[in-house]
Amino acid sequence: MSNDEQERAEWDDAWSKMQHRNLESWNAAAIGQILTADWNQNEIVTITVTDNPAKFAPKVLRKSISCPSCGLDVGTGEGLPVSIYPTSRIAERELTIGFGAWMHNSCFAECTQSNEPTPIPW
Ligand SMILES: [Zn+2]
Repeated sequence: MSNDEQERAEWDDAWSKMQHRNLESWNAAAIGQILTADWNQNEIVTITVTDNPAKFAPKVLRKSISCPSCGLDVGTGEGLPVSIYPTSRIAERELTIGFGAWMHNSCFAECTQSNEPTPIPW
């Protein structure tokens, strides 16, 4: 295996072991800051969230420190690096489009387990 292949295998393995949860309610203002501008919030039907593997979390872009669940800022050095996966009713986007965010540990703990396998970004 080449270095690239090895890194990719390690990446896939690390992400697939993370928890995939349902964000049953979300804070619209926080979600607006986390997503790119082409997302219309009225079209979002579900959002799921995964925690990020410690080794790869620094590679994920996080535009906002607002917690997607409660909308309050997650302080530096606190909270959990996560990726959120919105699904749009209209565009039926792939769940593999993830957006980096920060989330309070307690807010993540309140989310129920998703029945879907954990999405692997990129
Ligand atoms: Zn929170």
